[in-house]
Amino acid sequence: MGMTITEKILARASGKPAVQPGENVWVNVDVLMTHDVCGPGTIGVFKQHFGPDARVWDRTKVVIIPDHYIFTRDEKARRNIEILREFVREQQLPYYYDVGTERYKGVCHIALPEEGHTRPGEVLLGTDSHTCTAGAFGEFATGIGNTDAGFVLGTGKLWLKVPPTLRFIFTGDPPAWLMAKDLILAVIGRIGCDGATYMAMEFTGEAVFGLGKIAAEFAGQPISDRPVGFSPAIEERMTLCNMVIEAGGKNGVIAPDEVTEQFVRERTQAAGTRTDFEPVHNDPDARFAAEYRFDVRTLEPMVARPHSPEHAVPVSDAVGEPLDRAYIGSCTGGKVLDLIAAAKVLRGRSVAIPTFIVPATTEIERAMDRIRLNGQTLREIFESSGCIIGPPSCGACLGGPLDTLGRLNEPLRCISSTNRNFPGRMGHKEAQVFLASPLTVAASAVAGRIADPRDVLN
Ligand code: SF4
Repeated sequence: MGMTITEKILARASGKPAVQPGENVWVNVDVLMTHDVCGPGTIGVFKQHFGPDARVWDRTKVVIIPDHYIFTRDEKARRNIEILREFVREQQLPYYYDVGTERYKGVCHIALPEEGHTRPGEVLLGTDSHTCTAGAFGEFATGIGNTDAGFVLGTGKLWLKVPPTLRFIFTGDPPAWLMAKDLILAVIGRIGCDGATYMAMEFTGEAVFGLGKIAAEFAGQPISDRPVGFSPAIEERMTLCNMVIEAGGKNGVIAPDEVTEQFVRERTQAAGTRTDFEPVHNDPDARFAAEYRFDVRTLEPMVARPHSPEHAVPVSDAVGEPLDRAYIGSCTGGKVLDLIAAAKVLRGRSVAIPTFIVPATTEIERAMDRIRLNGQTLREIFESSGCIIGPPSCGACLGGPLDTLGRLNEPLRCISSTNRNFPGRMGHKEAQVFLASPLTVAASAVAGRIADPRDVLN
């Protein structure tokens, strides 16, 4: 019987000729990522079970990226970073992106591909639920808890159940204003927050491979100090896979193509990480648990009302609802393409409500000074429209300590390009968060209420 991409990756990683959904297998892990929130707990589990002098299974396969509680005076947050530093020194880990140094990156899920740690066909595990983002590179990527991660640190293996695959097929030529965020909100709105529980979600169809038009004119433009180019298509695929966990998905996956392979080749060579990889595709007779079809010509920009991503509605159902704040940032909505999209709306306009822009990584922050629209850099556009720009990190996506820039410290109504809008997610328990694409967030920031970006794009 044929296998899906996910099944084939897990078969290879477990040394078996074939696996099927529901089967439990020992999987060899290619990369384990952790960060400042879960890293200390993971290290504690590792030390407790493998001993105080234990060494990690493979120091070149452990990646530690502090990103969550970075720009804060909170003592506990600072102590977490110290624990990471001590462990990195003790284990001599080469892939640590320390705060306050030139290596500092920002949000882990964006830093991983930037720093050459994502490759088609591999298994990437991370102590963060949005580790699924890396499925955009045709790999098996999923979030795990500290206990599992501590075990992986010691053994390089994990006992995993092979998930069945749901297939989402997007047909039609996507208009420039339709972003990956709209597609994934449409999916979650249709299947619900538990519609893909412990399942792989594969995204395919011409529309998926045609995403990124809003920033297509910048494709290939250097955005880094390294010789690598901007890829709007890859960034949009990351947004799709990022939010599969909001539907309960175990992992998201998109078949690797030439765009993927070029991106991975450039990034791994520039970063000096492993450059070999073996892409995997569905067998012609692969079996899917179910298929869902979307014709993008029938879709609108989407907005998820409080307090769940499954409360997604077409923007025309929400236009005019009042807002107090707008936020553009995170692994979902703080990438280069997201900022270009926002700038296309904000240039020559002023925001009507406090609007925060938080680039996901230091590389994206630098891109704000390199990319120009009509002669103005993205940073100049944001500043002249009245936005407040924060330093690269998770920022207020998950609230964070009280002094986090952009945190909702009052019961405000905020529209955000992030991925979760549960009560308290961005701070105050009574705050109301609306999720949308950066285009819709920017248009709403200008209007001071929920607005349709199609009315303001020029
Ligand atoms: S940006 Fe938000 S969703 Fe992404 S890793 Fe950070 S806290 Fe999690």
